[in-house]
Amino acid sequence: MPDALISRTPSAYDYPLLIKNLLFCPVVDAPDQEIVYRGHRFTYRDLRQRVARLANALTDLGVKRGDTVAVMDWDSHRYLECFFAVPMIGAVLHTINVRLSPEQVLYTIDHAEDDVLLVNSEFLPILEQIRGRMDTVKNFVLLNDEPVVPESHIPFSGEYEALLAAASDQFNFADFDENTRATTFYTTGTTGMPKGVYFSHRQLVLHTMGVMSVLASSVDHGGFHRQDVYMPITPMFHVHAWGLPYVATMLGVKQVYPGRYLPDTLLELVEKEKVTFSHCVPTILHMLLKHPHAGRMDLSGWKVIIGGAAMSRALCLDALQRGIDLFTGYGMSETCPILTISHLTPEMLELSAEEQAVIRCKTGRSLPLVDLKIVDSSRQEQPCDGKSAGEIVVRAPWLSQGYLKDHKASERLWEGGYLHTGDVAVRDELGYVKITDRTKDVLKVSGEWVSSLELEDIIAHHPGVAEVAVIGQPDEKWGERPLALVVAKPEATVTEKELTHLVREYADKGVVTKQVVLLKVKLVEAIDKTSVGKVNKVALREKYL
Ligand code: AMP
Repeated sequence: MPDALISRTPSAYDYPLLIKNLLFCPVVDAPDQEIVYRGHRFTYRDLRQRVARLANALTDLGVKRGDTVAVMDWDSHRYLECFFAVPMIGAVLHTINVRLSPEQVLYTIDHAEDDVLLVNSEFLPILEQIRGRMDTVKNFVLLNDEPVVPESHIPFSGEYEALLAAASDQFNFADFDENTRATTFYTTGTTGMPKGVYFSHRQLVLHTMGVMSVLASSVDHGGFHRQDVYMPITPMFHVHAWGLPYVATMLGVKQVYPGRYLPDTLLELVEKEKVTFSHCVPTILHMLLKHPHAGRMDLSGWKVIIGGAAMSRALCLDALQRGIDLFTGYGMSETCPILTISHLTPEMLELSAEEQAVIRCKTGRSLPLVDLKIVDSSRQEQPCDGKSAGEIVVRAPWLSQGYLKDHKASERLWEGGYLHTGDVAVRDELGYVKITDRTKDVLKVSGEWVSSLELEDIIAHHPGVAEVAVIGQPDEKWGERPLALVVAKPEATVTEKELTHLVREYADKGVVTKQVVLLKVKLVEAIDKTSVGKVNKVALREKYL
């Protein structure tokens, strides 16, 4: 029997899922809503005009469909304009991770075959260093926030604001195939050169709709609505700031772009602009809450998605006590990124803070259209019992279809038709997933699997501990022993005995396996982080083992 394919009336419009429709057909039409950056205030009306101006300016520079336009900037209104204008003219937006080493930045520019590079004057020293070795870039555009244009040997084709001012604010954005590549960026892998992932218009539109449907349907907690004020605290160069700028624009909310992440500025903006919705990695929230200004601020009502790394209960309780409504999101570069969100049900919101923290720290339930499974090594799905661990594999309409120009790694990523996340997790009866480790970070102590994240969570509860990371130390007798690298709070004393005692209490209660008492502790000054602020266990293993 042939499939019952729909028949198309020749004159019927075959609507492609293009990024332009997020801008032109939003949920909330809010022409006067504000977009704020370093004291400048724009409106959504300005945004549309500036997107058209940027499209004209890029076209005048010779950018055509299929070309790649790269950006080196901190979070700004300009970045938001690029999120729209570049893909809307059929070009690919390469969001460069400015925290990579100059050699890695050069590698990603060459590998992505960038044609045009928009660069914030702050990064000119990096650019000067690598420019002579770039293979493909034909035009440079300067992004400048300073009153004086810095001196440079780069032959700029123009300065961003001047190019926009000279361009028309009318542009006819044509239709094209929704499967056209819209964005590219590079994973912040801790080994080898970064790997490029890529997303199409269709994928970004569906990711926006998926994330928005979950956030906008929540009323009492963790919702994202038109009255909110949005400020990202995960960089726009990393997985499109989790796709939230697209969601914010769709919902017509006020947007605040903080530039470089400086704790003083971030807190000041939260207060001054009355920010109500943000997202960040746990280390950033930790840093903000420990900042002296945070103590005298009213942070209640601030909704924060924590993701990118596991949130500890200690951090969650600290934030809850200050009235922050925080919950977890989970995903990775390869997944656009969001796959799960840990919203609480109305009944769960009646629980004590301690009980809520346990749920808020889980990685949450799958978004609509996300087919997420936890499988063992023979790809058998694990029961939803909160205990049976396995790897998270996933299918969703917004997953990178591979790594750029890396067929072998792409095949490995998609082995068996599911995307392999490399994350180990359990899932409970209510469908809440909890990540227990990266496959590469799991410890095997005396034949038993020990979750490094669980141990970190317990140790972080000690009042003298500021930061902790657990790695496996090879051991002749036990195979591996957990080694906790601990940063003590200023003026606090923490001893190995106290921490071993603390984890023993949890083991006695049956919360964790008995093997944890083999814990060793090393006090360190600081814990190595990756370019996006996550604990870098590869570097820690190299350093301490
Ligand atoms: P990246 O590709 O750099 O964004 O890193 C993605 C990885 O971060 C995932 O594969 C997880 O290992 C980790 N991750 C992201 N979100 C969470 C979360 N909510 N809890 C624990 N780990 C997370």
